Amino acid sequence: MLNILNTSKPLALDFCLSEWKAWCAKAGYPKFAAKQIFEWIFKKGVLDPELFSNLSKDKRLFLKESFTWEPMTTDCHLISKDGTEKVLLKTHDNLLVEMVLMPYENRVTLCLSCQVGCKMGCTFCQTGKMGLKRNLSSGEILYQLTYANHLSEKKGRRVSNVVYMGMGEPLDNYKAVVKACKAMIDPDAFGLSKSKVTVSTSGLLPEIERLGRDVPVRLAISLHSADQEKRSQMMPIGRKYPLDEMKEVLKKYPAPSRHGVTFEYVLIQGENDSIQDAKKLVKFLHGIKAKVNLIPINNFPGVDMLPSDTAHITDFQKYLTDRSIPAPVRYSRGQDISAGCGQLAAKRENELHLDPRVLQKQRRQHETR
Ligand code: SAH
Ligand code: SF4
Repeated sequence: MLNILNTSKPLALDFCLSEWKAWCAKAGYPKFAAKQIFEWIFKKGVLDPELFSNLSKDKRLFLKESFTWEPMTTDCHLISKDGTEKVLLKTHDNLLVEMVLMPYENRVTLCLSCQVGCKMGCTFCQTGKMGLKRNLSSGEILYQLTYANHLSEKKGRRVSNVVYMGMGEPLDNYKAVVKACKAMIDPDAFGLSKSKVTVSTSGLLPEIERLGRDVPVRLAISLHSADQEKRSQMMPIGRKYPLDEMKEVLKKYPAPSRHGVTFEYVLIQGENDSIQDAKKLVKFLHGIKAKVNLIPINNFPGVDMLPSDTAHITDFQKYLTDRSIPAPVRYSRGQDISAGCGQLAAKRENELHLDPRVLQKQRRQHETR
């Protein structure tokens, strides 16, 4: 095993094909070696260069010495009764990153993180409470997919869908996220369908426009209210980029599939779940090809927001579907092992800062599950 704590070496997963070509030229490797190395890493998911059988032994060894191959270690791995797997990965600088793997009958979805924490400060979000610790590199983002594929392959499956709905605001880490998305949909790399990679954002409008031009992935908008004042109170970014401007940008977004743009709408009791709220939402969505995911909020300690009750959820949903807006209710999977995407790592961060004994006890409990 290589020294994973060594940060002075570049991450092998951070390099795109042209960077491998430049490196190979400099290191005196044959021209075709760049493609071979690239495919071992990104197509076959092999992160041990000793196994790169089409390279000579000395070339494998030099590769091994020159790069960091495994940028993260597993801190904890929980498996829910419903099959959802949550993994906390620890970076070389001891930060926790969460990924969630959700196997369904017809697909395997990975919810991954792009930052440690987030600086957007949405009031209902536990990751937001952490603030931003740092951006992840494209390689650290892609490591989550590589690792998720390894876990899935044990069950004869592979990740088919990726959603950027773990920790962080993808468009606040634009360069790394776009680089990672390009590798995800590259047929010579991970080879995912472009309509199966979804970037979810709180609404950074200039970056949404850039994303539409740079990489043909799907877009999800965390809306949560179609009332300008209410949304800005829940999501401070709403003041900088108001709803009317967002609408103009979204109308022009080149949706890569017939599904258009997906909107995430967290339902909070007494806050944004009335028929009046649904009316505003329908008005906002007029002219945009939209689907709305309704998500009863996952509450957590320190935040006194409750999920809407069933009657409100049903009425809200009916109001939308009666007006031809698809609006499935999404309950977070893996409820028994923590709340929804992005919540587990924040929870563990708090524990780490609280009391190491709690952490140890939890670890023992996880191990016996
Ligand atoms: N920063 C991006 C992506 C990460 S958050 C974004 O905001 O879109 C992923 C999703 O989880 C978002 O839709 C977010 O609004 C939602 N979310 C955050 N806190 C939540 C909570 N307490 N309960 C349910 N969903 C939550
Ligand atoms: Fe950041 Fe998204 Fe959480 Fe808002 S909802 S704080 S943007 S992770």
